[in-house]
Amino acid sequence: MEVHLNNILLQFKQIPAFTDNYLWVLIQHQQAWVVDPGDADPIIEFFEQQHLSLKGILITHHHQDHIGGVIKLQDWSRRNGQKDFKTLGPLHSQISMIDQVLQHGDEVELYPDVRVRVIAVPGHTLSHIAYFLPIGPYNPIPRLYCGDTLFAAGCGRLFEGSPEQMYQSLGHFKELPDETLVCCAHEYTLSNLKFACFLEPHNGDLLEWTQQAQQLRALHQPTVPTSIGLEKKVNPFMRCDLASLMKSAQQYSDPTISTPIEVLAAIRKMKDSFA
Ligand SMILES: [Zn+2]
Repeated sequence: MEVHLNNILLQFKQIPAFTDNYLWVLIQHQQAWVVDPGDADPIIEFFEQQHLSLKGILITHHHQDHIGGVIKLQDWSRRNGQKDFKTLGPLHSQISMIDQVLQHGDEVELYPDVRVRVIAVPGHTLSHIAYFLPIGPYNPIPRLYCGDTLFAAGCGRLFEGSPEQMYQSLGHFKELPDETLVCCAHEYTLSNLKFACFLEPHNGDLLEWTQQAQQLRALHQPTVPTSIGLEKKVNPFMRCDLASLMKSAQQYSDPTISTPIEVLAAIRKMKDSFA
């Protein structure tokens, strides 16, 4: 993705980290917000190349691959004379380095006339939040920074929350505009698609996207961001209320399954051990 720093429109950068993480950066007037800097080094390298300064950090949840680089990035920024950046995130004992705790419904002004809305999405962890950036004067396409809650064709493991909580959290995402870009934190797409195809072998949209995703990965290209509209067509965890998923959950897990939440619980458990 090319970054034109002189353009007043927001610019976006997706930075790979570790083996399969993506770190997300938003830029305007050479001032950058970073979402979930699990590793500071690739961010600092990008900032140095592009002469960026840190405007702030947005955290989705407390796992190390999402917060591990926060302190180093803060220290680097202070050493470079930047002192007025902010670090925002959910309430959690392991997130001690933040200036402001965010809750469902909060709005954060990233730049003048650029605001993100906070959505509480318990499931992967209990205090997980997501950030929705709507269309605005400086942003032509809505974006969702969803951490480890929603992935391309999958969802996060339920480490702390219940299937019911994850169902409701994904329900918030289903209400977003279809064109919303899903900026998730991992490249898990091919593994997720394999499982999705197992559950819905006759879903044409799913088969088509699987082919495209395989081609992208063969060329070492990212498959994310995807869109909410695509996820509603192919992601089994966004489709738990459909007869095709109910039937698969009954067939492969428990014939007495009768509600969408039970479908989600069953397929999430299956995915945990799906090879
Ligand atoms: Zn996580």
